Amino acid sequence: PLVLGIETSCDETGVGIVHGTTLLADAVASSVDTHARFGGVVPEIASRAHLEAMVPTIERALKTAGVSPKDLDGIAVTAGPGLAGALLVGVSAAKAYAYALGKPLYGVNHLASHICVDQLEHGRLPEPTMALLVSGGHSSLLLSSDITSDVRPMGATIDDAAGEAFDKIARVLDLGFPGGPVIDRLAKEGDPAAIAFPRGLSTAKDPAYDFSFSGLKTAVARWIEAKRAAGEEVPVRDVAASFQEAVVDVLTRKAVRACKDEGVDHLMIGGGVAANSRLRALAQERCERAGIRLRVPRPGLCTDNGAMVAALGAEMVARNRPASDLELSADSSLPVTDPHVPGAHAH
Ligand code: ATP
Ligand code: MG
Ligand code: FE
Repeated sequence: PLVLGIETSCDETGVGIVHGTTLLADAVASSVDTHARFGGVVPEIASRAHLEAMVPTIERALKTAGVSPKDLDGIAVTAGPGLAGALLVGVSAAKAYAYALGKPLYGVNHLASHICVDQLEHGRLPEPTMALLVSGGHSSLLLSSDITSDVRPMGATIDDAAGEAFDKIARVLDLGFPGGPVIDRLAKEGDPAAIAFPRGLSTAKDPAYDFSFSGLKTAVARWIEAKRAAGEEVPVRDVAASFQEAVVDVLTRKAVRACKDEGVDHLMIGGGVAANSRLRALAQERCERAGIRLRVPRPGLCTDNGAMVAALGAEMVARNRPASDLELSADSSLPVTDPHVPGAHAH
């Protein structure tokens, strides 16, 4: 199926076009630079930027793909979770195009899309697949037996998301926003064993698949403060490398454990933090040792984009899932267990 997908849950206006599991276009307009000076995403600014970028980004994607709108088999859109006002822009646009073109509309889940996008890189997802979803707002282990209908949460963060921790530590180090990419880069020149930062929820009596990054964040901030108070220079590269190591050590250890416990031999890692080079390397090392096949999309498909929405929409069409109706509304807290929002009148 030929599907156009629209993503506006945060600060990226993304429009992707796929044919089944083949990527035809992935147009992204980001308002991240506008938010950078505020140190985080400002919802009102994001909504306005989506509004301005929406139609040009759709047109750019159609042009790149060389596709005529009348040939589409469906229009998919992120229905949630995400920023309410931002989601509304994408949902309204998708409804307008679906109505004007007479095409079925699929309101899909942003988190399931972060997983399904890997089909564009490595083909259909094996069933079941364990997914480690690590992004700006979420850090979860999910067991998916069918990405269009069956996503079971195994564990999640009890406080901060992994991406949020990267962003907060970058702010303490005055590295700007978003923090993930710059910490990733600086960590390459630092020593990951320089400072022993705590690994949250990793003792035997802790919940096996939950995560906690708030203690780590506080420990890193205190360590930096103490250095500064003593008038010593903060070894930014070593702090970045040691912090990053603490995050990816726990993430990969728990993901591999979940696979082993559940007898699942495929692990996929998705979400913005999956772009992290050390996470990718350590996961590969540990999966190989455990006999688990690892699937991680290329970094550009890990962060928010429209192709991931189109990928999940195409899977909905391929599996004959009911379309959403034109009364579809955005749901800022759509649960991960709902891969899509079928229409009230659908059967
Ligand atoms: P969610 O998907 O939970 O709604 P989101 O859509 O805002 O949140 P994504 O775009 O999926 O999040 O991911 C953004 C996050 O990924 C940011 O916190 C950013 O710092 C982090 N990130 C991006 N690249 C890297 C990297 N190379 N290393 C670590 N973190 C990264
Ligand atoms: Mg973003
Ligand atoms: Fe995301």
